[in-house]
Parts: sequence; structure tokens; C-alpha cells
Amino acid sequence: MGVIQVMSDALANQIAAGEVVERPASCVKELIENSLDAKAKRIKIEVEEGGIRRLSVEDDGVGMDEQDAVLAFSRHATSKIIHARDLTRIQTLGFRGEALAAIAAVSKVSLTTRQSDQTHGIFLRIEGTSITDGPKPVGAPPGTRIVVEDLFYNTPVRLKYLRSVQTEFSRIVDVVQRAALSRPDVAFLLSHEGRVVFQSSGRGGQRSVLAALLGPVEATQLLEASQSSVTCQVTAWLGLPQQARSNRNHAYLFLNHRPIRNLSLHQAVAAGYGTRLMVGKHPIYALFVDMDPILADVNIHPHKSEVRLSEERDVSQLITRMVENALSDKHLVPKWPVTS
Ligand code: ADP
Ligand code: MG
Repeated sequence: MGVIQVMSDALANQIAAGEVVERPASCVKELIENSLDAKAKRIKIEVEEGGIRRLSVEDDGVGMDEQDAVLAFSRHATSKIIHARDLTRIQTLGFRGEALAAIAAVSKVSLTTRQSDQTHGIFLRIEGTSITDGPKPVGAPPGTRIVVEDLFYNTPVRLKYLRSVQTEFSRIVDVVQRAALSRPDVAFLLSHEGRVVFQSSGRGGQRSVLAALLGPVEATQLLEASQSSVTCQVTAWLGLPQQARSNRNHAYLFLNHRPIRNLSLHQAVAAGYGTRLMVGKHPIYALFVDMDPILADVNIHPHKSEVRLSEERDVSQLITRMVENALSDKHLVPKWPVTS
């Protein structure tokens, strides 16, 4: 008799969850992406014990009906793509249909959601692949609120790999700040243990988010730069060489409004600074690349933060040139006053 068995959904989800949900910050990232895809204009993130005990993300987006609220937690359930060809033209932040299933597989999740044309919302609580409460009607404002509790309660090995509350929380701060920079038109509010740690107004543009993030004095000194070619358009806020830090925490990269990681593009920026930087110092910058999504593959890893660009060399050269030009400008004066 054969020995192979098809594993249960619960186990399959738990294994797959490992790739999507590494730590509390990855939950926050996925939930924020969902809120943005749902056209939210305000997103509130509340965290307790670095998100290990509890985190919640609340938005004022389009919400879900009862059927979708249940289906949203199934693996490969998504409203964002249907056909394989859609993968080449992804306009949403999510598309893999696995984040909610993955989060529910390794935590206790409650969902409250209401569409604006409905008189009441829907509540449900889910653990693993099982609904433990609801779906049932509740009073709720339009939008969606997802609460994630006791992350990795059923995967103790994962839990063991989490760092201190402070470290886990600082990763959440980074995720929220990158999201806020990517979408200055959306108001973000992040609190830890009931204390507001970061907020953006959703009204002031990139400059006011950078001021919230770096402090108004530091932000005032940034240089604005832009450059375009047939394949892409690049805009950036660049710190002066004397503002460089000894860590890389303030190097922000975005592709079509998605926070990304890409070593070549970071190196292209560094090349533009060249010898203006002291050894061991890293520039502060926020760089926004916009290009036809067909030229950028974001489906390399479940995190969707690594990207492969088909014109990477061209883009890199453009970036280096732009940074060099901006810094060689004789009038190295701040380009804008911070008003907020
Ligand atoms: P994906 O984002 O890749 O589609 P997810 O598991 O993150 O997969 O979400 C599954 C589906 O649940 C989404 O496609 C969307 O239809 C719905 N959904 C999730 N979060 C929200 C939200 N905050 N507001 C409205 N709908 C949501
Ligand atoms: Mg998603």
C-alpha cells in the first residue's frame, strides 16, 4: 500500500503561512495592503506587545458582504485577479489570495466588516481553517477591521524566533511608515499600547509624510529630483551628504506605489552619491519609480517586496544620473519649506 497522503487544508495553510507571515510586521503589511486595495482613505493600526499579543488594522474602505467575508480566509481566494494574463498587469498590492488564510492559520483572527450601503456589518472569528464564531450581524462603521491575536500560538517554533517586543514593534513602525510614504493621500495612525507613535494626515503629500517620519528640520533639507526615460519615471527626495546616517534605515524605495527591496536600485543611488559620502555612511532618501507594470515582476516571493525589472540597467543608470545631477547643483538649498 502507498504511503502518500494529501495533507489537510489546516496543515497546508500552516506550512504556507510560514512564507507569508514571518512576524507581526508581515501581518501588518498584508493587512495594510488589503486596506489600500479596498480604497481606504484612513487606516488605523493598533498594536499590543509588539503585535505578538494583539494587532489590529481598521480601514474605511469598501468592506465585504457576508459571503466574501467567509471566503476571504480560504487559500487562493482573491477578488483581484482571475486569469493568468492578469499577473502581467497587476494594479493592486495583493493578488495571491493567501494572506488572510495564512494569518488565520497561525493566529486567532476576528473580522468586522461593513459595506457602506448596508445597514449592519458582519462579524466572524476564525482560528486555523475553522470559524469559531459568526458570521453574524453587528453594528459597525463602513469599512473593515481585522484583529489578530496570539500570533504563532499553534506554531511554537515560530514564536521562539520572534525578537523582543521593541524589535518587533520597530519593524511594524517601518512597515507603516513605508506605506504612509507610498500613499500620502491616505491618513495612517499607528499606536503601541494605546500611545500614538506615528501618524500622517493624508493631505500634505510626500513632503509632509517625510516631515512626520524624519522630523521637520531634517526633512526641510532634502533635495527634490526627478528624471524620466522612455521606460520609466523616477522622482526622489534626497538627503544631503552631511545628513547621511550610519544605518540604512532611511532608504525608501517604491515601485508603482509599492514599497520594494531591490539591491541594484539602492546601489544605483549610492553610486550617484559616490565619494560625497564618508565611508560607512548611508544616505537618507525616498525614491519613487513608476513604470509600466508589464516591465516589473513582483511575483517572485510571497512577500511581494522583491521585484525583478526587465530594464534594470537602464533604470539604474537613470537613477545614478539623477542623483549626481541633483547633488552637483551649485545651489544646494532646500527646495521646499515644510508647512505642516
Ligand atoms: P489578496 O489580497 O491577494 O486578494 P488576501 O488573503 O489578502 O488576498 O485577501 C483576500 C480577499 O479578501 C481580497 O481579495 C479582498 O477581496 C478581501 N479583503 C481582504 N481585506 C479586505 C479589506 N480590508 N477590505 C475589503 N476587502 C478585503
Ligand atoms: Mg492581500
